[in-house]
Amino acid sequence: MIFINNEWHKSVSGKTFQTLDPRTGEPIADVQEGDKADVEKAVKAAQEAFRLGSPWRTMDASERGRLLLKLADLIERDQTYLASLETLDNGKPYNMSYLADTALSAGHYRYYAGWADKIIGEVIPADGNNFSYTRHEPVGVCAQIIPWNFPLLMQAWKLGPALAAGNTVVMKLAEETPLTGLYVAELIKEAGFPPGVVNIVPGFGPTAGAALASHMGVDKVAFTGSTEVGQIVSELAAKSNLKRVTMELGGKSPNIIFKDADLDQAVEGGHFGLFFNMGQCCCAGSRIFVHEDIYDEYVQRSIEKARQRTVGDPFDPNTLQGPQISEIQMNKILGLVESGKKEGAKLAHGGARIGDKGYFIEPTVFTDVQDNMRIATEEIFGPVQQIMKFSSVEEVIERANNSMYGLAAGVYTRDLDLANRTAQGLRAGTVWINSYNVFSSQLPFGGYKMSGHGREKGSYGIQNYTETKTVVTAIPQKNS
Ligand code: NAD
Repeated sequence: MIFINNEWHKSVSGKTFQTLDPRTGEPIADVQEGDKADVEKAVKAAQEAFRLGSPWRTMDASERGRLLLKLADLIERDQTYLASLETLDNGKPYNMSYLADTALSAGHYRYYAGWADKIIGEVIPADGNNFSYTRHEPVGVCAQIIPWNFPLLMQAWKLGPALAAGNTVVMKLAEETPLTGLYVAELIKEAGFPPGVVNIVPGFGPTAGAALASHMGVDKVAFTGSTEVGQIVSELAAKSNLKRVTMELGGKSPNIIFKDADLDQAVEGGHFGLFFNMGQCCCAGSRIFVHEDIYDEYVQRSIEKARQRTVGDPFDPNTLQGPQISEIQMNKILGLVESGKKEGAKLAHGGARIGDKGYFIEPTVFTDVQDNMRIATEEIFGPVQQIMKFSSVEEVIERANNSMYGLAAGVYTRDLDLANRTAQGLRAGTVWINSYNVFSSQLPFGGYKMSGHGREKGSYGIQNYTETKTVVTAIPQKNS
């Protein structure tokens, strides 16, 4: 169903779409398919909720925080159900849905609840006889378009700061994974958010997503997804009403292993940095640069780790890797594996589909990868690890930066100077040193270059959901 004004609606067109179980390819449920007409209704509701004098606009900021805290509690109350639904719709291991996705989502709402009444402006000693200050006001109606790889968490990353800052929202869920986002809509209502503050429209990108990005009544669009679609959304936003745009896009993140690294830690970091979430992470460490002195041992240990990785039913507690999200993604990944073989990389492990039901792929390791190969330049978004060799620090920083992307990077070394020098040289939104995939709500996340712009999470996440208003009042005479 479509969630508008705290009520459930059928699509105006009467159309529905199926969401599939990635373990089998079988349908789980029919979902109402939102389109332009539904987006129209949702935007109207969000505008009405943002009207001057509305319950939402006149609510104390601390009360917005209390509602977010309540939402976090409700997510924890229903954590088992939500984690099961996430695994069913997305295919990620249940352990992860429970311990990571649902837990981090609740934590994220809680973190931004704390911000709600701490978004403050400045009193500014401007020249002249005046009293001047800034207000950090909500941007207005925000469109939020999210992907399928972390459905609950991407929803939380977007809703948390938007609601803390007092905006209203129309969110389009990914067509592959609409179920948990819709369940959270019911919790939003239960928490007590006024009607129209959050509206959720499941549907497809070129229809519902494009209608939002080009809507004249939407003040901002926040998008997470591929760079290609990010360019389309930016263009639609610019050509309609120049709505504000924040983008979290793709990546081809380097993970650099220096020769003095703690090898156990570096092998684990290279493995986890790539295979986590079936490789379906925008920040996956998909170019692992290993110093030539330790290359052979690193490769051998990485292959061993990939060999030990358990693939299977994501509801089995022993499973580390479930299916990929869809047949399209699976075929795209297998196509890139073929290109790697053809272009001369060494397929050291895996490389094939597992079985003929569902979308399972073997944990795959390529070694002897060259920088210009497709597997070293294109985002694979699958369980395919690229390992390459380097000899000097200057060389590796230059090669790591030689990408249109700049989302994240990893550095493994025990040498503090080398770690700092490399971290400063890398053009990436996040640099993890002797770690990978550390995602605290407090830490900003986002990309350089074609990995996007703007930051989510942390205090920086609030900046993207506020406008700064300068208020200047003439006074008869000022005194210092
Ligand atoms: P996608 O870009 O195809 O889809 C993302 C969202 O955009 C979906 O909701 C989709 O329906 C919508 N969309 C598609 N076409 C649209 C259009 N013309 N107008 C408006 N909306 C449209 O990406 P995907 O296949 O769902 O996800 C994989 C990609 O997302 C990867 O490239 C990955 O790097 C990226 N990603 C980035 C981050 C990040 O934080 N930077 C996080 C997750 C995924």
